Amino acid sequence: MVFPGRKLALFVNGCFWHGHGCLRGARIPKSNTEYWIKKIERNRVRDKETLIALQKLGWRVHVIWECEIKDRDRLKENIQALMD
Ligand SMILES: [Zn+2]
Repeated sequence: MVFPGRKLALFVNGCFWHGHGCLRGARIPKSNTEYWIKKIERNRVRDKETLIALQKLGWRVHVIWECEIKDRDRLKENIQALMD
């Protein structure tokens, strides 16, 4: 999600795919473990690069994790806080 007027970029990241530090993100499939670790590590590096690139352009970047979406009230508060 991008809000050009506010120079605000919101990313919604899947915990598994983007290697979140929560329980869901820490789970690695038992088969092809090596493959998944490398793949997720690559995603994390790319996320970081994207974030830094946007910040250099003067954007505010906020990541919303999949596990945070479940708590709708908190999510709404967080987004509201970013808009103020
Ligand atoms: Zn998570």
